Amino acid sequence: TMGGGQKTKARPAVPLSFDEIGGQDRAKQELIEALDFLVHEEQISKFGIRPLKGILLTGPPGTGKTLLAKAASAYTDSIYIAASGSEFVEMYVGVGASRIRDMFKDARQKAAKAGKNSAVIFIDEIDVIGGKRDGGQQREYDQTLNQLLTELDGIHTSDSPRILLIGATNRKEMLDSALLRPGRFDRHIGVDLPDRKGRAHILRIHARNKPLHNDVSVDKIAEESFGFSGAQLESVMNESAIYAMREKSESIMQHHFSMAIDKVMMGEKTDRESTK
Ligand code: ATP
Repeated sequence: TMGGGQKTKARPAVPLSFDEIGGQDRAKQELIEALDFLVHEEQISKFGIRPLKGILLTGPPGTGKTLLAKAASAYTDSIYIAASGSEFVEMYVGVGASRIRDMFKDARQKAAKAGKNSAVIFIDEIDVIGGKRDGGQQREYDQTLNQLLTELDGIHTSDSPRILLIGATNRKEMLDSALLRPGRFDRHIGVDLPDRKGRAHILRIHARNKPLHNDVSVDKIAEESFGFSGAQLESVMNESAIYAMREKSESIMQHHFSMAIDKVMMGEKTDRESTK
């Protein structure tokens, strides 16, 4: 997801539902509870409750944080705009800050144009712009973080359209405390590696369009893929289909899955070694 000079793009509305996200029951529930604050905003303001501005999703790579943000956008019938923290890191002072400003402006305009009441802005790798500012030592992108804080502080319950910022990071401890204060990223939702039941659920979701042999046990695959992320499980499904096709098999069989699990596990190892 690196993209130095890439501009942030509005993606077409992604009608992804929470049902298409496997496992993550607690994260989904917490997220829906938070989103209901946005959906029932008149009530919220009647009780004088602070508006929900930001939700932070934290957890290891490939666990479905992006999927959750997309589902949140669909759930609240919002425009969805996504960017990665690294897109705001620029050589020239002020460029990152103006990109942030443009992104919020763009989100408001697109939502208004589409007749929506809200826009979800998703920033993956938010730690890249929201990292700790070490006193005195100004980094060239402190301005970017300051602009993000300014935008968040400028969100009011009565705004139309309303902006909801969803950030994702796998390094929460790196974030500047200013971002974590009430009124900024108000909700923190942990998105962890799936347990066995979650893995089986994710595997079933990705098996929907695939011919599985009758003797395949998804539960057994879930058991054998301990420690795998959702993204890795998606790879297991995909690789097993490739093995089946190569063998000219009519359907995907258990041994194809065993091979695929090994392959994904090995892939991880070589990835790690090559980054050393
Ligand atoms: P990163 O931090 O690396 O950006 P992420 O947590 O945002 O990762 P996603 O981009 O949401 O992860 O997931 C990548 C892909 O992995 C998804 O497109 C999907 O195919 C699969 N995947 C991950 N988690 C799940 C899940 N819980 N249910 C179904 N599929 C999943």
